[in-house]
Amino acid sequence: MQTQRVHFIAQRSKRDIFGIPVLSLFFKNKYMLTLYRLTTLFLLVYAIIYGILNPTKENIFTTAVFWSIFWPFFMVITLPTLGNVFCMVCPHGFLGKHITKFGLKLRIPKWFDNPYIGLIGSNILAYWFVIYTFPSFLKSPLITAIFFLFFTILSMLFFIGSVNTTFARTSPVWLSTYEEECKSCKKPDCALACPYELNPSKFEERKSMMNCTMCMECAHVCDAVKLEFRRFGYSLYERIKNPKMIEVMVYILLVAVITFTMRFHHGLSRTALSEYMPWVIVGNYLQKTLGIPKWVDMTGLVAMLMALSLVLFLFRASFTLVAKITGKSFREVLLTLGYAFAPLMIVGGLSHVLEFFFIEYYHNIVNGFSQAFGLGIHAEPLAKRGDHWLHIFMIFPFVAGFWSMHILWRRTEFIGKDRRLSVFLVSSILPVVYILLSLFVLVGVLFFPAQHLHRH
Ligand code: SF4
Ligand code: SF4
Repeated sequence: MQTQRVHFIAQRSKRDIFGIPVLSLFFKNKYMLTLYRLTTLFLLVYAIIYGILNPTKENIFTTAVFWSIFWPFFMVITLPTLGNVFCMVCPHGFLGKHITKFGLKLRIPKWFDNPYIGLIGSNILAYWFVIYTFPSFLKSPLITAIFFLFFTILSMLFFIGSVNTTFARTSPVWLSTYEEECKSCKKPDCALACPYELNPSKFEERKSMMNCTMCMECAHVCDAVKLEFRRFGYSLYERIKNPKMIEVMVYILLVAVITFTMRFHHGLSRTALSEYMPWVIVGNYLQKTLGIPKWVDMTGLVAMLMALSLVLFLFRASFTLVAKITGKSFREVLLTLGYAFAPLMIVGGLSHVLEFFFIEYYHNIVNGFSQAFGLGIHAEPLAKRGDHWLHIFMIFPFVAGFWSMHILWRRTEFIGKDRRLSVFLVSSILPVVYILLSLFVLVGVLFFPAQHLHRH
């Protein structure tokens, strides 16, 4: 479809990426977008087939593609920096769209149209529970290939609600439209073109881009669609017109399952303090008493359950208290203040991903591609676990914690100006505990290094 020049914007805003030719080429040009998607599609298919044909651990390509590129770079690094660009380059939506064109035309069943299925089923249970409890399971190239094949098929048949757009709120990239142009618009072609039935001309008013995959179909039919660089976490500082419980639950559940559990299981369990940690004591006790085999890691499972209990207790207790102080309902408090927790998981997670780039991801990627494409090159790790300079990345949990508190301070204003300081102090319990936990991990890593290192 051609861009309709009726909505031609002569003077684009300075922050508008589409007004900068080179960035417009990268983010909007149809051919570039198709190139990204075909490249990722090729990699996805090749890595899956390669994993099925080479199921043993000698195959380093399949696991490198999925665990050293897709997961860390597209899911953790790009979300808080460039927004939901993973969905932009992901072949799933692209494939789904073209397959649907050829006649499948499946509508999502009502019972499946529940974002909690995606969050709890395919994220927490299918991935994180497995990672902590059966740590060697997803390291197998065959299991990795089957795991991604399963999700590719599922996402081609149905649109599965993603947590990506929820975490993309921390990024400075924001899609919206030139309002003046939209006021006189008789036919919202942007909304009609959207495969997900969204209306980008309402994103600004609602302060929500929820479910937007940045596919740019809307931008291709109307020039009044813009993509801007704003402040980091722009919408988190604003009143959100129609807040969604699922967004807040994504922040809370994933901060428990990913961030807190990682600090417990991959942070403190890597120090000499490990044997004093409650999840290690309880996990080992259960493992021994119940005669559970070694390939099941009960300490990982117990760490996840303890982290979940702690985070759910902290947020429930603090928001109940805020509801009492302000006389508002618990739901209103949750939907107003809960957005402040957005940076905790995604920004805090940068410390792990950046550290692992130097320890594992870099050489896995180079050696994996060399293996799959016969390049004949070999790379060594850029750093080894325990190198002191890697501790610099431990700054991110503190950035995340203080940033969360900064957003929280701003959002307490939306609850009411009375007793604002008390509301802020009580509702900050979760980020404060998060900062203290990160400090404890830092002390553990610096002053109580383990003799025997825990393997990721
Ligand atoms: S409502 Fe949509 S189609 Fe109409 S001018 Fe605005 S962006 Fe363009
Ligand atoms: S609003 Fe719809 S068409 Fe526009 S980028 Fe988002 S998902 Fe694509």
